[in-house]
Amino acid sequence: MPPQLRLPLRPGLAGCEPYGAPQLAMPVVLNVNENPYPPAEEVVRDIAAAVAVAARGANRYPDRDFTALREGLAAYLAAESGVTVPIEEIWAGNGSNEVMLHLLQAFGGPGRTVLSFAPTYSMYPEYARDTLTDWVAGSRRADFGIDLAAAAREIRELAPCAVLLASPNNPTGTALTTAEVEALATVARGAGPDGADAIVVVDEAYGEFRRRGVASALSVRGNHPNLVVTRTMSKAFGMAGLRLGYLVADRRVVDALRVVRLPYHLSALTQAAALAALTHRDSLMAQVASLRAERDALFDWLVAHGFTAVPSDANFVLFGVFADRHAVWEGLLARGVLVREVGPEGYLRVTVGTPSETSAFKSSLLEVTGG
Ligand SMILES: *Cc1c(COP(=O)(O)O)cnc(C)c1O
Repeated sequence: MPPQLRLPLRPGLAGCEPYGAPQLAMPVVLNVNENPYPPAEEVVRDIAAAVAVAARGANRYPDRDFTALREGLAAYLAAESGVTVPIEEIWAGNGSNEVMLHLLQAFGGPGRTVLSFAPTYSMYPEYARDTLTDWVAGSRRADFGIDLAAAAREIRELAPCAVLLASPNNPTGTALTTAEVEALATVARGAGPDGADAIVVVDEAYGEFRRRGVASALSVRGNHPNLVVTRTMSKAFGMAGLRLGYLVADRRVVDALRVVRLPYHLSALTQAAALAALTHRDSLMAQVASLRAERDALFDWLVAHGFTAVPSDANFVLFGVFADRHAVWEGLLARGVLVREVGPEGYLRVTVGTPSETSAFKSSLLEVTGG
């Protein structure tokens, strides 16, 4: 028996478990919305070479302002979204999880509220908890869009410091139009604590997978200084293991984030690796186009086989509806296919994999459901 230990655990943390989807070694892993394709050999080589250069200077602290990386991210955004962003309006961290935490460290806190609309990303309440910010989740419409009138009422009533909008939303795949984003950003002006402008964060972790005709919130950000758009290299960019997330915001927002970040939070090795990966954006963007087509085909297949599937602008599809979704999840697992048990009752979420992973998923699903 170890000696007795009574930890002085913060009250809000009693009984909390660490967050995370099961990391099971399965032949077909379709549960955390990763890009199924490992980086090409030339990307691996460039990253290794860049990391070697950074390692030679590793006796020194890294560039606190990661200027070269911000330039690389700006060039990527220009190519991907056609939007020019000065580097003072870019901020990055170890995953978009970290930049989101920076936002709530700067703008949340005791007595403040962060508002979102469920079902949505299950990490959001944790950022709130970890920054002692109250968490309120309004609801979404039956089609998982956001009811603008209800949302505007909630913003005015709650005076939130921040409103978190995942678009495309996880786990539903639902994207907001830029008109909806602009409407919410406008309502949020002066509606925050003590009449401050509430920050509206559009989490575009899956932004690159949006369907044709759906615009990024980046294209309207210039009209709304309280609008923040977050992105990540974890999903479309195929670099979940790198841990690099970033955001675009008014430079006064970025200046507030610089106050709360840990000194030297982005390692020199991360900066070098991310910058090297960004030089390969053209081949990665071609891959995203094929994943988008696979996503649309998977959606059509699900519907054609009598399942309910939610139209998706992301690299996953929410589908169901099962009387016992856990049994379906387990049946798939028994066949070596790992999906995610998440979202509204009766639904499961599957990530778009390689064509062979997707066909393993389809045949397993038909077996499990007797289709
Ligand atoms: C996966 C995901 C992220 C990405 O997190 P990283 O920390 O950048 O890996 C952010 N937001 C949502 C909604 C996600 O699903």
